[in-house]
Order: sequence, then structure tokens, then C-alpha cells
Amino acid sequence: MLGLHRVVAGGGRSDLGRRLDIPQTARPLHLIWSYATAIAAIHAFALLAFVPWFFSWTGVVLAVLGLYVFGTLGINLCYHRLLTHRGVVCPAWLEHALAILGVCCVQDTPARWIAIHRRHHAQADEQPDPHSPRAGFLWAHLGWIVVRNQDLVRPGLVSRYAKDILRDPFYARLEPYPCWVGVILLSWLLFFVGGFVAEWMLGGSVDQALQFGLSLLVWGVFVRTVLVWHITWSVNSVAHLWGYRTYETGESSRNNLLVGFISNGEGWHNNHHADPRSARHGHQWWELDVTWLTIRLLAAVGLAGRIATPSVQRQPGQQGALEPPPAKD
Ligand SMILES: [Zn+2]
Ligand SMILES: [Zn+2]
Repeated sequence: MLGLHRVVAGGGRSDLGRRLDIPQTARPLHLIWSYATAIAAIHAFALLAFVPWFFSWTGVVLAVLGLYVFGTLGINLCYHRLLTHRGVVCPAWLEHALAILGVCCVQDTPARWIAIHRRHHAQADEQPDPHSPRAGFLWAHLGWIVVRNQDLVRPGLVSRYAKDILRDPFYARLEPYPCWVGVILLSWLLFFVGGFVAEWMLGGSVDQALQFGLSLLVWGVFVRTVLVWHITWSVNSVAHLWGYRTYETGESSRNNLLVGFISNGEGWHNNHHADPRSARHGHQWWELDVTWLTIRLLAAVGLAGRIATPSVQRQPGQQGALEPPPAKD
């Protein structure tokens, strides 16, 4: 069983409950209007799901499937476990295809997402963690995204934390502003046009085709995007506040049952902070980790290799065995 550096639930450093200021580099508070407007607009478009005219069962199915295809494969598997932590390796064509799914989640480019997340791991719940909930739940969930933070300005941050990503010309080409936004808009168009054409070819009128195309856009794109956002954001906010701690990690990460299940494995966040490189975040039998099961499936068909498993399953002293983080004052 998991023997090393385990702690009792609720354990941790005594000062972790102390409030943290938002990073100095984010002051004075300055709203990034483009991000705030985009996030508000996509939430508003998702609310159209409550208008019956935009409903279709196909749209609902696409929204549910999209949580897995875009959220789990794009963000969890590719952006996080593969690119950020290098816990698994896939053939380049598959890695790049998964990264495009990640881009479609409107969570920024691979290089910047990865740089921000590595920044988080470097100083989690200390200054200048970009999104610690010790600076407030709303700050950790959403605020940090829409407030300008000099520490997260693209060129400096990426060259410091994600140089390896940009060495791949595929990611370097995605990085400039119009390119990644173009990928997102193209994916949205595909949902609408796909629905429109399918309905029209099945004998529907232009009105019916328009209604069906828009139902796929509202449900398959906007509802799904908003759900994936809040799931990802909950890992930063909820899973650093509530849940149990299996390991003493030197920050306040938690294994949160709700986030663990709805995120397909990312909510076993204390396990993850204890052993960031591991591609497996669920350590106990009840910690269902669909992302990990997907990686195993890919490995079984020869599409994933060099998989990092939890160090805590290795014998102490073996290479890769988990070392406790250095004590901080
Ligand atoms: Zn964290
Ligand atoms: Zn991570």
C-alpha cells in the first residue's frame, strides 16, 4: 500500500489556513477586458440551453461526450499529464491531435497553460502562486484569469517555464494570437455546419437545419466549454480547500471526491502534488481516475509509453521514490 509520507486527514502545515494576498504582480487590479468579455459571452451563450428552441438530444449527447473528448483527452491527458509533467509519451501525431482538443477548450495555448501550471507547482499556495484559494475562492476559481498579472505575461512566462514546449514547431506555430483563436472558431463552425448539413441532407427545411446546427453549437460547444472550464477551475479552487489529504505536501492540496469524479481524475489533487510526474492520480481503489484508465488503454494498443507511475508504489530508496518536499518557514 501507499506507505511513504502519508498524513492524517486534515494534516498539513499549520500556516496553510492563513490568508494570502493576491500576487503583488497582479496589483493594482486591472481587468483584462478581452478575457472577461469572452468568458461572460460564452456563459451567456451557454444559458441559451434553457431556451427550448435550442434543444436537441444530439446536442446533449455531444455535450456529455465533449466533457470526455475535450476536457479529459485535451486538458487532463494532453495539456496536464503529458505536456506539463511528461508523465506519458504518445506518438507526435496523437499528441498534437490531443493538444488541438485542448486548445478548443478555450484555456489558452499549450505553452501558456503549461507555463502557468508549472508556476503553480513551483510555489503552490505561497507567493507568487497565480491561483491559490488562500487569496480567496473567487480569485482561485476565476479572478486570476481576468486580472492582469505581470508574472503571467506570455513571452517571459513561457520562455521561463515552457521552453521545451516551444521547441516543437507545432506548438510554436499555435502560439501567436490569431492562430489558436482561429482553431477555436473553426471548431465551433464545424459543430454548427455539421449539424446544419446533416439535418438538411436528411430532408429538413432550412429553418430546421438552422435550429439543429445552433442546438449543436449551444450544447456541444458552449455548454460543454463552460462545464469543462468550471471543472478545471475547481481543481485550482475547490481541490486546494476541501477534501482529505493522503500526503504531506507542503501546500494545501486536497483529494476532493466531487472534483475527482467530475473531472475524471484531476481532483485527486493531493496525490498529484505529492507526485506530480505520475500519470496516475487516483491512488486508492475508490479514487476513480478515468484519465489514467485512458492512458492504460492507449498503452495497451501501443499508443502510449514511458508512463510514470506513482513513486509511492516503488520501494523506498529506488530511483524515483517520492521524497518529502523541503520544509519551508
Ligand atoms: Zn494544485
Ligand atoms: Zn500538475
